[in-house]
Amino acid sequence: MAIRPILTLPDPILRKKAKPIERVDDTLRRLMGDMLLTMYDAPGIGLAAPQIGVSRRLIVMDPAKDDAPKTPLVMVNPEILERSEELRLHEEGCLSIPDFTAEVERPARTRVGYIDREGQPQEIELEGIWATLVQHEIDHLNGVLFIDYLSRLKRDMVVRKFTKQKRAEAL
Ligand SMILES: [Zn+2]
Repeated sequence: MAIRPILTLPDPILRKKAKPIERVDDTLRRLMGDMLLTMYDAPGIGLAAPQIGVSRRLIVMDPAKDDAPKTPLVMVNPEILERSEELRLHEEGCLSIPDFTAEVERPARTRVGYIDREGQPQEIELEGIWATLVQHEIDHLNGVLFIDYLSRLKRDMVVRKFTKQKRAEAL
């Protein structure tokens, strides 16, 4: 397994709609392993394949605190089947937008369908941090970032900051 570099704003891959995965095999399981390793190393609580430059519908998540036992959840081709009307406010961050957080309101509960590590279809109901997390990660597969929920002014400010930073690094 290997830690992969994480792409940051404004990398165009982050804005692409990721393609569905056709087969769960050892190559894909290796990618899942790399993603979990990369996420824990960052450290982060969620990672979507496009964030490491792979434009495929695969996400990994684990909101467990540092000292708690690990509770990784890997989803292939995840799809939100139901969302609650009740909303939940959470201060979100993103490994692709380092050092920036903002409060985002999303449905408090979701039912998600996905394919697991063994290639079996699953359905799960998620709430709390898990619900926020799964929606954030599935957004990545559709080229959507959490800053898209902020005011245009705020979002443009963040994008500008990262674009400038990248230009400075390129010099
Ligand atoms: Zn993210």
